[in-house]
Amino acid sequence: MLPKPPPREPSLGFIYSPPYRIQGISIAGEATSIQVPELDVVFDMGACPRAMLASPLCALSHGHMDHVGGLAYYLSQRQFQGMGTGAIACDARIEGDIRRMLEGYVGLERQRTPFELYPLEDGQSHPLKPNHFIRGFHTEHTAPSMGFVAYERRTKLKDEFVGLPQEKLVELKKRGTEITRSFEVPLVAYTGDTLPGSHLLRSDIRAARVVISECTFFEKGHHKRSRIGMHMHVDDLAEWLPLLECQTLVLGHISRRTQLGDVRQALADRLSPEDLARVRVLMDHRANRQEYDRQVAHAEAADAGSAGT
Ligand SMILES: [Zn+2]
Ligand SMILES: [Zn+2]
Repeated sequence: MLPKPPPREPSLGFIYSPPYRIQGISIAGEATSIQVPELDVVFDMGACPRAMLASPLCALSHGHMDHVGGLAYYLSQRQFQGMGTGAIACDARIEGDIRRMLEGYVGLERQRTPFELYPLEDGQSHPLKPNHFIRGFHTEHTAPSMGFVAYERRTKLKDEFVGLPQEKLVELKKRGTEITRSFEVPLVAYTGDTLPGSHLLRSDIRAARVVISECTFFEKGHHKRSRIGMHMHVDDLAEWLPLLECQTLVLGHISRRTQLGDVRQALADRLSPEDLARVRVLMDHRANRQEYDRQVAHAEAADAGSAGT
């Protein structure tokens, strides 16, 4: 008998929740790196699959190995591939630890990989791309931890000027009148590893179009374990989800011990059909593939329909 080749690496999870792609890997204790290409950001860098390199910023939720294991590699590979200096936004409480970790590689490699590090206090924000930024908020975990909400800053004509002719608006603007007001729209929220609590009931999380959350425990008897590890249990999810307005709740950080069939069953048992329809599991490749095929077929049918008219 010949020895068997090693098992193949799992492919990246992929969900399209228009207009965002949510892609990456997330397995509790192993690695979490979740990228939203449209927002130029990767949340956490537990491992660094090639696709993650394209994002210039990594927003780091906390320092556990399954969230930072690929960080030094990400910075180094971006440099090596000529993709520019990588940037990290992290909880200010772990800034020193991140610096010390990266400093260790300078000695090992006998060279210095440049990086940018932006420590964030609770509620502080950092730019992503024009008119877009992330805001960090403290969460509750066994290490200092932070979640993020990505926002778009939009401007709108003030109510009193709506309906005025263009020339009039130009004139007002020339005279220095502020004719627009700006407001912030929460787009995508990422919780990192956390206990449930009031920090997950922030108005921006509740209003975000897509919420990416951990859910580490699914078994009935595992409630206590979820509290010790300071993680979410599916029961917490069942309480929380009805309060969210999101079109999609993406679940990650499911442990390898948990069978996907049991995950699907636990969700179906606890969630209303409407809420269940909003939940997607990042690493449920088969279900996500089927949904994507449906989306493709739907888009093709719409194209064919518009071509016919
Ligand atoms: Zn973790
Ligand atoms: Zn953790």
